[in-house]
This record gives sequence, C-alpha cells and structure tokens, in this order.
Amino acid sequence: MSFPGSGLAKGLAVTLRTMTKRSVTAQYPDVQPDLAPRTRGVIGLFEENCTVCMLCARECPDWCIYIDSHKETVPPAAPGGRERSRNVLDRFAIDFALCMYCGICIEVCPFDALFWSPEFEYAETDIRELTHERDKLREWMWTVPEPPALDPAAEEPKELTAARKTADKLAAQQAAEAEARNAPRPDGTENPGEAT
Ligand code: SF4
Ligand code: SF4
Repeated sequence: MSFPGSGLAKGLAVTLRTMTKRSVTAQYPDVQPDLAPRTRGVIGLFEENCTVCMLCARECPDWCIYIDSHKETVPPAAPGGRERSRNVLDRFAIDFALCMYCGICIEVCPFDALFWSPEFEYAETDIRELTHERDKLREWMWTVPEPPALDPAAEEPKELTAARKTADKLAAQQAAEAEARNAPRPDGTENPGEAT
C-alpha cells in the first residue's frame, strides 16, 4: 500500500543521494584509465604462429578478417622423402570499423596467433584507416600484457608435463651412456672413456 506523495518522496530521496555523492567523471585524456587486465582494446597478430588455417576468418560473425595466402613447396627433409606444401601468408588484416570485439577469432585460433591488447587509442578520421594490416597488427602484439601467473594449485599444462618428461628421459639416457663409458672393462682394465 502506498501513501499519496510517497513516490515523490522516493524520487527526491534518490535525487538527494545522487547530489551528495562524489563525482566519478573520468578525466581522460589527462588521466589514463585504469583498465582491467583482460580489456578488449585491439587485436594483435603473432604471425609466426599463424598457419593460414582460415578458421578465424570463417568464424568471424562480421566477416572483417581478410586473409590472402599462397602455397609453397618445401623440399623433402631427407633424401627419398616426399615434398610438402605449406601456406604462406600474404595479407592479414582486420577491419576494426566492422569488428564487434566479440573475441571469437581469438578463441578459435588453434595456434595462439591472435591476442587481445588493451590499447584503445586508435580512432581515425578516415574510416579506411581502421583496417589494420599485418604490420600494424604485429605492432599491437608488443602491447599485449603478460598472461597472469598460474594458480599454484592448478594442474600443470600438458605441454610442460610432456616437455619435462622428454627432458628427464634425455638426461637419464645421457647419464646411462656416460656411466657405460666410464665403467671398468670385464678384464679389469680401466675404460679409457670418451676421447678428449
Ligand atoms: S573480435 Fe569478433 S568481430 Fe572482431 S575480428 Fe574477431 S571474430 Fe571478428
Ligand atoms: S585461426 Fe589463427 S592460425 Fe588460423 S588463420 Fe586465423 S590467426 Fe592464423
């Protein structure tokens, strides 16, 4: 049940509360904003990781990723082997006038070639300048923040586990070889070991 004039009183109370609050106006550009670590500002391309699989361009809902490439034949690594072909990137561009910053391209890239950078100061007076070509996308790469440290209780990434296992195996193999070289011969004479 409401009393006559209670709506007006509530409205005035809200106005009073707002009037007495401190102003939160951001003084940009004099004061740079304190951005969240995962801010979606612009996309950086680490093209060494890009295999031109086209997944990002196909999945982009705005069709604003432009990729051109050609195929190159790679000679066989060993005699008698087969020639291989690989894709070579000719053009990689993102039109930020169309991009809606959904992040799908970054999510779907299977080779970690795309990253969010918090940089946002790239407004242009000419809309065509908002299509960033590969050189510009690479420059954004250097503004990508380091990933946050792993939670100490988190499971070790499988890539690290595999690399550690390989390193341990190699070290054990080298130790066994060194031991075999230095072990005494069956006739009791000393093993000369590895020639120096
Ligand atoms: S963030 Fe979304 S819209 Fe922008 S390029 Fe990537 S997939 Fe396309
Ligand atoms: S999904 Fe990744 S690897 Fe594939 S074309 Fe796009 S950036 Fe390159």
